[in-house]
Amino acid sequence: MTVYSGPVFDMAVQQFGVIANHLSIPMDERERILMPKRAVTISCPVHRDDGSITVFEGYRVQHHLTLGPTKGGTRFAPSVDIGEVAALAIWMSWKCALVGLPYGGAKGGVRVDPASISKRELEGLSRRYMQEMIPFVGPHTDVMAPDMGTNEQVMAWFMDTYSMYQGRTVTEIVTGKPVSSGGTLGRREATGRGVAHLARRVMRELDIALDGATAVIQGFGNVGSHAALELYNSGVKIVAVSDHTGALYDKTGLDIPGLMRHAAEHGNIAGYSNQLHHDPAAILTLPCDVLVPAAIERVIDAHDAENLKCRVLAEGANGPTTPEADLILEKRQREIFVIPDILCNSGGVVVSYFEWVQDLQQLFWEEDEVKRREYQILDRAFGQMVSRAKRDNIPHRTAAMALGVEKVRAAKNTRGLFP
Ligand code: NAD
Repeated sequence: MTVYSGPVFDMAVQQFGVIANHLSIPMDERERILMPKRAVTISCPVHRDDGSITVFEGYRVQHHLTLGPTKGGTRFAPSVDIGEVAALAIWMSWKCALVGLPYGGAKGGVRVDPASISKRELEGLSRRYMQEMIPFVGPHTDVMAPDMGTNEQVMAWFMDTYSMYQGRTVTEIVTGKPVSSGGTLGRREATGRGVAHLARRVMRELDIALDGATAVIQGFGNVGSHAALELYNSGVKIVAVSDHTGALYDKTGLDIPGLMRHAAEHGNIAGYSNQLHHDPAAILTLPCDVLVPAAIERVIDAHDAENLKCRVLAEGANGPTTPEADLILEKRQREIFVIPDILCNSGGVVVSYFEWVQDLQQLFWEEDEVKRREYQILDRAFGQMVSRAKRDNIPHRTAAMALGVEKVRAAKNTRGLFP
């Protein structure tokens, strides 16, 4: 019996099973590596603008504490439940281990549609969520960051709330803060920039010229918009973009800086154009060089996987590809180069780690330094993943996850089992 359930949690379990079999991990060791160390569920009562009170349910799951504090984003979305949060925490563990960060994985969230509450209500909810979490988090215990539905402003409220209770400013309690409040240069762009960096690297290896290459981006929030901008600035034509309000398609290439200005002003891409509309469900299977899912989990199923027409699948979102789709992509690995999520979107946590280090030292870096070090870490992990995949003749996702899981396993085994 476990409190965790749902399709996203099942997916994380299924993926771990593949890796555990590949690594021949004994059955009695598997649960210790897979199951989260702690899970907290809280009620967050919030004063609404109309004078009423609404109680929102919030969660935080800390997967393992073997390598250091846990680290992970906070998601505000109607889909959030304890199973989804646990799966995201588990993936964070493999991701941090893969890229060599001294963290276990964590994730948190509130079941709320942030578009349905006012800015004042969002502030109240953010502050109450952090206040309820104070006994369970800390700069050396668990460090939060943004995820879907949260942003720099929410991180600033988290940091301010925690600091008020400590009686001093504790910037290192969260990452992804505004630069004016202890954030680092390059964090806002880090995840999308990393996605684009790895996509460019693969395009070079596949002899696809950047100038005139095409890309399709699903999701135009933090990750999707910055991945789009970075690719656009490299000469890649972004032919289609979607978000939860719809999709835009232009075979001559969309004006990404213009679309970003529109999305910043309106919160989404709706109303940008009357001519460029497209079926959002169909954009994943448009012909393109690079496909970037950068929205939610489980958007590429087996049917989509059969019909993808991209050369590179650069997974900006966490868990966008189902295990059934993975089986199809394995058969299509000569046609489609998969950059799996735990590597592809790891630029975010890498630069969050830089932010934490800078906050602890009160010594801040130039943006070029942040970017150089981010790319260095991504390139190293990419090289390790590709070598492992070739050596063992396994898909990239299996290779990336195996590298992460075996590091966590080795750390648990050398530390031993207490008491
Ligand atoms: P965000 O809230 O900034 O943006 C999410 C985007 O997805 C929005 O444009 C939204 O409209 C769109 N969207 C939601 N549902 C959709 C649907 N059904 N179809 C199409 N678009 C849809 O979130 P984000 O921070 O950009 O995160 C996106 C993904 O990247 C998530 O899976 C998240 O876990 C992952 N991720 C984020 C970071 C980070 O640093 N923010 C780091 C690693 C991974």
